This record gives sequence, C-alpha cells and structure tokens, in this order.
Amino acid sequence: MNRDEYLAACAARYDHCGYERTKKMKFTQLERMILEGHVELARMLLQSRLEDDPRGKAKGGHLCPKCKHALRFPEKHKWQRRILRTIMGELAYHRAYGLCDACGYTGAPLDEALAIPRRGPSVGALRKICHAAVVARSFEAARDMLRELAGMLFGRQHIRTVSEREGRRIVEERNEEVKAAQAGRGPQACASAPELLVIAADGGRVHTIQPAPDERWKEDRVGVVYDAVPRPDPEAKLGEYEGAKAQTKTYVASMEKWEPFGWMLWVEALRRGYEAAKQVLFLADGAKPIRDLKNLHFPNAIFILDFWHVVEHLAGSARAAFGEGTEAAIAARERWKRMLWNGNAEGIIRDIAEQSHRLGAPQKGDPESSPRVVLHRDAFSFFPNNKDAMDYPRYRTQGWPIGSGAAESGVKQLAKRVKGTEMHWNVSHTGAEEILALCALFNSEDGRWDQYWDRRAQGGPE
Ligand SMILES: [Zn+2]
Repeated sequence: MNRDEYLAACAARYDHCGYERTKKMKFTQLERMILEGHVELARMLLQSRLEDDPRGKAKGGHLCPKCKHALRFPEKHKWQRRILRTIMGELAYHRAYGLCDACGYTGAPLDEALAIPRRGPSVGALRKICHAAVVARSFEAARDMLRELAGMLFGRQHIRTVSEREGRRIVEERNEEVKAAQAGRGPQACASAPELLVIAADGGRVHTIQPAPDERWKEDRVGVVYDAVPRPDPEAKLGEYEGAKAQTKTYVASMEKWEPFGWMLWVEALRRGYEAAKQVLFLADGAKPIRDLKNLHFPNAIFILDFWHVVEHLAGSARAAFGEGTEAAIAARERWKRMLWNGNAEGIIRDIAEQSHRLGAPQKGDPESSPRVVLHRDAFSFFPNNKDAMDYPRYRTQGWPIGSGAAESGVKQLAKRVKGTEMHWNVSHTGAEEILALCALFNSEDGRWDQYWDRRAQGGPE
C-alpha cells in the first residue's frame, strides 16, 4: 500500500461515517464503528510499514544472528506470510524467512531487527495477556478481562500457554541471577542505602490432588523486602502500635523449597541494598526452616517474631491448658498476651511449663493437637527457642515493625492467584511457579514490571 492508497482508505472511512449514512445510529454505535475503522486503518499502516522495510526483503547481506554466516532464502520463503496477534488485533504481513546452512538457524531478519518474538503474539499483546493472567482470579477471568477491556479475543488455554511461557522466561532470568550472585556477581544494588531494610517471609499452602498424602499440600513461599521509616512509640498500648512505615515493597515468590527460596530472597535483599543498609530486620513466624534461612543468609539481621503469630501460640496453649472457650483459658490468653507485649517471655515460659507439668509429658500416640503435646512444645521448644525474637518493648522504642503483615498479605494475594491455576496444577503439575514469578514481578513496587517489558521490547535471546 502506498501513501495515496492509504489516504484513499482514510477518505473512504470519512465518508462511511458521514451524517447521511449514520443518522439512525446512537452514540455507542458511532463510537464503536469509528474506533473499529481507526484500528483497521492502523493495521493497514502497520502492515505497510513492515512490508516496506528493506530488512524484510530476501537480499544478500543478511547474516545469521547466531554464527554470522550468510542466510539463504529458499524460493518459497522469500515473501513468507505471518499472522501476528497485536494490540490492534490480527495483523498479516510478509517478509523474507531465511535459513543458515552453517548452524541450522531459521528466522526472519525483519522480526529479529524489530524484536518481534519468534512465536506467539507481539510484545505489546503479551504484556496485556500477562497482566490479565496475573490480576484475574483465573484464566477464564483473564479471558473475559482481555475481551472486555482490550477487545482482544484469546482463549483460556491460549492465555495460559502464553503467560506460562513468559513466566518461564522470568523464572529462568531469576535462576541465572541467583547463580551469578552465588558466584560472587550480585545484582546491582539500589543507589541509596536504606536506613531500615525489612525482610519478611511466609509460606502458604496450595492444595493439590496428589495420590501420596504428604504430597497433597504444596507450599508456596513468598518473601517481601521493603525499606521503611521507623516510627518509635514506646508507650503504645497493645493493638495501637503502628510500627515502621513500609516504603517500596518488592516480592519473591516460588513453589521451590525453603533452601533455594532462601537464595532468591537473598538476591532480592542484595538488590534492595542489604549490604549498605544501616539496620536490617527479618520478620517471620518461628518455623525452623525460616529461621535457618535467616541465619544462613541474613546473619546480621535482627530476627523479630511476628507478634500475632506468637499470640496464636499463646491462645493455643491457653486452650490446651484450660479447655476450649473456658473463662480460665480466655483469662490466661489475655494475661500472657500482656506479658508478651511487655517483653516478659520468661514469665510466659514459666507459666506454660507449669501447665505442661500439670498435664504431664506427651504420651506415645498423642496426636499433634493434644493438649499435652501443644503445651510441651510451647514450653520447651517454641518459646525458649524464639524468646530472643520477642523483645517487643525494644522494637517499639526503635519504631520497628512487629508483624509480618506485608509478607502475609503478599502470600494471600499470590495464593489467591495460584488457586486459579490449581486445576491445571493438579493435572500437569506445572504453571504455578511461572504464574508466581509473574505475580511477584507485577506486584513489586519498584517499577520492574515496566522495566521488564521495556527490555522485552528491545529483543534479546528467546
Ligand atoms: Zn548460523
């Protein structure tokens, strides 16, 4: 199409929308018709631009991007047609498709030059698909969202394939980054050293229908890293303390076990200025693998046990000692909560140990939830092992956070989305890792989602 043909098409569109032809139309019809006409013209223009491009012609001088050998263009590929799905809908265009006799590479030099992905939709369309796949509850909801908001008609399965493939790229980039950091080449740290850097980690469960009972639940792990401004409030009453104000939050999420997850979180912390930070805190519940992770990767961070998680332990011990819902149980729980708030972990340990002695040591065959087991565990392992991380009066004086709410809400947010992949996850056992990686990228507040797509639009290896 040349310029005159394009202008003629524009004029035809103009006439098509004239009053006489459209006087019976309501506004919404006009709005839709005119937009569709615009998009049609835009596609023509884009096709014309692509087909005019000298890099799409089967001439000599095209070199193989892999080995720099000259590409050969067999007759039937000299002007090969491609249907590309774009943000403007399907676009058909022609360009030369070559092959390299030296290394076996095949590809279109024009696509390569413009960073059009070798397969699948354009980067702009990919971005919208991935966005929908992340923010919607399920791939069905993503399909509806794309149709309604972007006028893009993609099937559920197609959205799944495309977004998981993109998620795979992100997972692989992340794994490469971890390997590089392990080899001493850490990521570029942010420019300004944070005053206070907070790292929090938590695990959520993803239900799977695996035959083996211990495989039925899979855990997804979410970590959040944020810089924060301390807000000291030593006099705050229980429930009134706000703690440090989180600034920019960035996420790591994975179905991998705690050990590999620890490395991912470490790399994220390095990027956020872990090494230059004046003070680093690590917030989590007292689960042993998380503490091990903290000790291995963040030895200098101060470990703070999530206050509300400890309160759950106190409530559990109170129930175990005095019976579910009894006045004595409620009174004990409230008394211990105040002791915890005032930093009296020793007192709590004494009280719970006393209750444990009263009920006796766990017997063979006692279930995990039996009062004897609960009290024994809290009195002789959970509280003694973690009491150094329960100095809440000190944390309030410093203005530090005492709850891992940021990580927990991240876990919930991401877990909600992984639920949408549950069905697929059950059948094929794939997809959850990819969707989690996309979710972490999208939810991170440092602009990395935009940066990723800008980078993607510039091309690079596929
Ligand atoms: Zn080659």
